[in-house]
Parts: sequence; structure tokens; C-alpha cells
Amino acid sequence: MKEHTISIKGRAKGLDTSMEGKVHEVPAIGIDLGTTYSCVAVSIHDRIEIIPNEQGYRTTPSTVAFLDTERLIGDGAKNQVAMNPANTIFDAKRLIGRKFSDPKVQGNMKLWPFRVTEGPADTPKIVVSYRGEEKEFLAEEISSMILGKMKEIAEAYLGKVVKNAVITVPAYFNDSQRQATKDAGTIAGLNVLRMINEPTAAAIAYGLDNKSEFIGKINVLIFDLGGGTFDVSLSTIEEGGIFEVKAVSGDTHLGGEDFDNRMVDHCVAEFKRKWNKDLTGNQRALGRLRFACEKAKRILSSTTQTSIELDCLHDGIDFSLKFTRAKFEELNMSLFSQCIETLDQCLKDAKVDKSWVDEIILVGGSTRIPKVQHMLRELFGWKELCKSVNPDEAVAFGAAVMAAKLSGSNDKSVQDLLLRDVTPLSLGVELKGEVFDVVIPRNTQIPTKKFKTYITTEDNQYSTVVKVYQGERTKSTNNHLLGKFTVSGIPPAPKGEIKFEDCFEIDPDGILTVTSKIISTGMSNKLTIANDKGRLSKDEIERMVKEAERYKLEDQEYKRRVNAHNDLEDCLYNMKKKVREYKVSKRVHPESLKKIEKAIDETNEWLEDNHAATTSELQRKKVSLEFACTPLV
Ligand code: AMP
Repeated sequence: MKEHTISIKGRAKGLDTSMEGKVHEVPAIGIDLGTTYSCVAVSIHDRIEIIPNEQGYRTTPSTVAFLDTERLIGDGAKNQVAMNPANTIFDAKRLIGRKFSDPKVQGNMKLWPFRVTEGPADTPKIVVSYRGEEKEFLAEEISSMILGKMKEIAEAYLGKVVKNAVITVPAYFNDSQRQATKDAGTIAGLNVLRMINEPTAAAIAYGLDNKSEFIGKINVLIFDLGGGTFDVSLSTIEEGGIFEVKAVSGDTHLGGEDFDNRMVDHCVAEFKRKWNKDLTGNQRALGRLRFACEKAKRILSSTTQTSIELDCLHDGIDFSLKFTRAKFEELNMSLFSQCIETLDQCLKDAKVDKSWVDEIILVGGSTRIPKVQHMLRELFGWKELCKSVNPDEAVAFGAAVMAAKLSGSNDKSVQDLLLRDVTPLSLGVELKGEVFDVVIPRNTQIPTKKFKTYITTEDNQYSTVVKVYQGERTKSTNNHLLGKFTVSGIPPAPKGEIKFEDCFEIDPDGILTVTSKIISTGMSNKLTIANDKGRLSKDEIERMVKEAERYKLEDQEYKRRVNAHNDLEDCLYNMKKKVREYKVSKRVHPESLKKIEKAIDETNEWLEDNHAATTSELQRKKVSLEFACTPLV
């Protein structure tokens, strides 16, 4: 894999306070908030760097686990999933900005080992047991914990507090999903400079990586198949760093996890066939199976056969199954075909032929699947696929470039970047008879502002309800209702005489504001979709920010306590060892040794009886033990 670096002369200039409270220049970070894995990058030392986490991994599982004693985020959380399935939360990105009643949420709930319940305004709430109490979290809060973790990873690397960030979202995220992701960033204590589409970020990574290799214009297809979402985008990259997105398409519910699920279902069926036992109620077994299937899937990308072996999977029965690549492909063929159909549709939407595509860029871990690559090459007449950008890191890389640009990097190649992104879905209002009237068609370049005029539909109509929808169906209710508001105080007049002017404005983050004005009176009403009921209010966000800080402090205190406990255990171990040595060498008086041994035994007992001891109690015990053992040192 080629490591992609770009030359960024001069540092990004996000002004922030350092850990010591002094004002320092701190670079803004780019975060790829993935369904299954997240990645953070920064522009520093004249190049873009992917920041490794504390384990040294360049991507971090988007998983949060709640335990009786602590909260784990990332690798720690993923590694204990089989032991604690009900309190290990993943897939928050599949929930964010969605309603509880959404059929996709309902479908996923059947597969999740954790509990999701219906909150106010049809909001899904994740229920876990944490520190012995039942707690409810919104998807925004779980995502904020992951973003907070990515922020911490960057801070540990940079040695400074990070505030500014660019976060990526799937191109196909609707307005609610975008706004909810932005809220998650705020709760994590980040100032979200911009949200950009994942394929656009990947195109930036590709464009900068290859900037010396092309002149003129190049048309690229970004095929991004990750853990939970599938995004496809057609863009042109012009010499000098102009990125123009022509069309985007995708599926916010299609990715590696769906392939894992099909494998899990197959294993469950095999277990039933062989042992006549249903393990679907055994969450721990399902968690272990899912973990093993994901591993097997990855292996099947490089070999044609592997096996899944799990001791005591259910009712004391060991499970063993040979898995071939052919079986994996057969199980997932319909999903792979869905990707190709979506891609075909995207080409049609953009009114371009396959030959328009100069480069096919693979992004997302699931593009390593040989069958996916085979189908793509077949569709494009066996064209070679571009693998020069690392599929796991390209999105974070592009986000970091954008972060550098927005925070004032003085590198020319970054400053010259010009992004022309598009809105993924059509936006409009409902007319009489549930007809959807499009104001901004999909694939319109953003930011944008469009006006449309409407008239009253009844005599002496006093008020009207503006219902804003997003989607492609002709019947409004088949689309996604973003919000509604009332315009009242319409002057009495026969129907059709009073005119309204609706203004739809999309900002660079892709977030929409709708204003409706009665032309004759100038009276208007406005809806920023963020105010939709079910969205987080400012007060709720503030409360969650405070809670997030409290959880962070609790985590830190827990770590301090564990460290103090370990220090005391180490001290006990060392003193015991020294006592044994001194008994042999006889360099300390036997009476003194007896006293020391008594102090060691007492401390040992105290430690066993006081599991809930506080950090300061543990530290005090260590000091007194060291004091009692002075003759040994
Ligand atoms: P991303 O969201 O881009 O980080 O992609 C993560 C998804 O890629 C997960 O579902 C992984 O299981 C999947 N993945 C990673 N490596 C491979 C591989 N070698 N073969 C198949 N799937 C993979």
C-alpha cells in the first residue's frame, strides 16, 4: 500500500488553549466517524498524518462498552463484546438521526444484542447497565463518546487540547442524520468546522496524492463500501485542486456488517440443523459468532477457505464450520448486486456513460472483498481499480486536508482546494393531496438557495402548514419528513390570490433552512431543521456536554484508582521479594524483618477486604507500607 503524504508548508492555525491553559496554535483534526471503525488525521510536520491510537492501531472500533466499574471506548470495548454483549454498543451511526419506528432501525434491532427503546418524539434510546444503574443514551451521545475518543487520541499525539474538527458523513445522509452528527461533535467538546461527504474526502485524498500525475481534468468514481454504509460518488478533479461532485448515491444501511450478519445467520442455521438447537436467544453466543465471522470474512479476502471454531458455543456444544469464499459470496450475492445497481443508478443520474469514468477509487474496508472488486471490473470492461489510497484511511486523510484549509493552512495546494459538493436527496414541500413538490433537486451543488412561489388553496385561508420532505418519491409521505411549521395571519382573500415565497437554503455542511414569506405582508416564518421536534435542543446539548465531561472525569478517576491499586500490589510484591532476599543475606535484624512481614500481611489483607477503596486510601496504604519497610531500602 502506498503511503500517501502531501506537503503542507506551515501549520494549520486553529487557535486554542494548550493543556497548561496558554494560547497555542493547535491544528484542526479530520475525523472519519465510521459505522464500525473511526480514523483521525491531522496536518502537521508539513504532511498529513494518520494518528495511531494508544494500541498503535490507525483505526479505532466505533464501539462503547459500559461495565460495573468503568466505560471503555474503542479496542478495549470491542475486545470484551462477547462477555458483555448487552452493554457493548456499536452501530450508533445506523441509529443517528433516525426515528425509532424507521423500518431499518426495527430491522437492525433484531440483530443487536443491546436494547433500544422508544423515547419521546419517536426517538430511539439505547438502554445499558452502567455502574450498577440502568442508563439511557441517545445515538448522538454514543457517537459523541467515539468522537471524544478520537479527540483524545489526537490530543495525546499532539500534546495539546484539540478543539476544531472536520467530521465526515456518508454522502447519502439526510438532513436529520447530518444535524445529529454535528450535535454529537458539539457534545464531544468539538467545534465542527465543517461536515463533508465521505467520498468527497476520499476524492481529496486521491487528488492530492496524485496531483503530480495528471494534468487537465480527471473523472473519478469513488466506490466506498465500509462497515455499515455504502457510498458512491462521481466527481471531477481539475488541475489546481478543484473538486466537483457530479452525483452521489448510496445506501446508509449496507456494508461489512450486513455481510457478517449473513454469515452469522448461516452459522445459526447450521447449528440448528446439526444439533436441533436454536441459539438466537443466546446473546453471548451470537456475539462470539459475529466476532468469529468478521475475522473469517477478512481471511476469505486473501484465501479461499477458512474455518470457524468456537468451544462451548451454546448448551456446552462446540461449534466448528468450514467456510469457503464461494459460500461467503453465495450468501452475500444479493447485497453485492445491490451495490452494483446503486452504482448504475448513480451513473444514470449523472447522465454519464461508464466510459466517462477515468479512475475507480476503492474506499472502505469491504472493498477488499475479491467478489466486489471482480464485479466492479466486470462492469467497467475489466478496467484496473485504483488502490493507491489506503481504503481505511482515505476519508480521514481528506477530512484533515479540509480541516487544514478551513483553519488557515498557508500551503498553497491546500488553500487552492475548491470543493463543489452536491445535495444527495431532493428537498421540497408537500402540496394538496400529499404531492411532493421538489424545490431543490438532488445532486444540486451546495451551498445553494432556491425560491419557489405557492398560492392559497382555500378562500379566506388564515394559515398554512409547510411540511418539508427529503426524498425521491412523488407521494410526499413516502419520503422523509424533515419538519413542519405554520405560517399564520394570512389576510382574508379568495383562494389563489395570496402568494407565498418559500426559500430553501443549504449551508456548506449540507444543513437546510426553510423560510416561508407571505409576499403581500412580508410576514415570514422559518424552520431550521435543527429545531424539528425530536432533534436536540440547545439545552439538551448543553446538558449532554456536561454529562460527557462527567463521564470523562469518572473514567479518569477509575484509571487513577486502578493505577493506585496496581502500585500498591507492585509495592507488596517487591517488599515480599526483598524480605525473602534479606532472610538469606541476614543483613536486617530478624525482629525488624518480622515487623515488616506483619505490615506486609496486614496490607495484603486490607487490600483483599477493601475492593472499593478510594485512590487516596490506596495511595496512603502504599506510603505507610513503604515507611514500615524502610529498613529494606
Ligand atoms: P470501514 O468502515 O471502512 O473501516 O470498513 C470496515 C469494514 O470493512 C468492516 O465491516 C470490516 O469487517 C471490513 N473489512 C476490513 N478488512 C476487510 C477484508 N480484508 N476483507 C473483507 N472485509 C474487510
